[in-house]
Amino acid sequence: MYRHFCLAAPVFALATAAAHAQTGQCTQSPHFAVVVHGGEISQPVRDNGRLAIMQAALVRARGELAAGASSLDVVEEIVRTFEDSGNFNTGKGAIADRAGIVETDAAIMDGNGLRAGGVASMTAVKNPIHAARLVMEKSPHVLMVGDRGQTWLQSVGVDLVPPSYFNNTRKPGANNVEHGTVGAVALDRCGHIAAGTSTGGYDAKIPGRVGDSPLVGDGVYANDAVAGFSATGHGEYFIRFNIAKDVADRMLYGHQTMHDAMQADLKGLLGRFKDGDGALIGIDRNGHVETMWNSVGLFRGFATDTEPPLVAEYEGPTASNP
Ligand code: ASP
Repeated sequence: MYRHFCLAAPVFALATAAAHAQTGQCTQSPHFAVVVHGGEISQPVRDNGRLAIMQAALVRARGELAAGASSLDVVEEIVRTFEDSGNFNTGKGAIADRAGIVETDAAIMDGNGLRAGGVASMTAVKNPIHAARLVMEKSPHVLMVGDRGQTWLQSVGVDLVPPSYFNNTRKPGANNVEHGTVGAVALDRCGHIAAGTSTGGYDAKIPGRVGDSPLVGDGVYANDAVAGFSATGHGEYFIRFNIAKDVADRMLYGHQTMHDAMQADLKGLLGRFKDGDGALIGIDRNGHVETMWNSVGLFRGFATDTEPPLVAEYEGPTASNP
């Protein structure tokens, strides 16, 4: 089975990223962390393009967090990069539904104040994660959907693209078994956790179907007092079990570690279903990173203030130390 594991050269990495860093506001604590995913893998695949993009995004994000960037800005920037790359099932590379139409979903959550925004069934939005942030910051609502939601988003300046923008060449049809989703979670040096998730949805979805990714508590969740999460996998199960919030609740009320809480949901709850495939990435309030999946693998990567970026698909580290 294909395996990729890679360590960045930390000194070069930090210097390169620092050149791009935004003016930092968060410098209270020396500690920060960032974790990303590029989709769970339910059938063995090999995709060095995804890994390279994830590695570069982590290098940049690590430098920005070190310089004091906010977790919210870093999460949005990472997910936008994945959306623009065309290499993932989101943004430019989003898979089409059964009718051959791309409909994207995304959400972002700020663990500082539990603010959140989401968009669903977007057919022309270039960057769904940015649209989600606009919903959070410029509307009194949490979720905007469909054409009318898109019209409002246009009024607040979101970039729209024609159908030809999407580079999905996969043939739509019931036999498609291709999904993915991207996500990022970051803890900044102010102690704030943010999480974001963005997707083209699940294999051969019926037009109009919405998955877990834009739903707070299902495919995304962040609470500074506990942890932040982004999910990928069979969204219907993540919705039915409110997976992201359930894992946070196990930690908050059940005092479980993030590892045990993820395991209880991914392997205990979803593992009982033949098609309950899925994965989670998370950072707890102490800056510990966990990644876990119940299927074949997960495109993933993380970095902390003490650990340089690494990315992997199958074997390899699944958690930070500590
Ligand atoms: N969770 C996404 C959805 O159900 C798809 C995925 O992550 O692969 O829409």
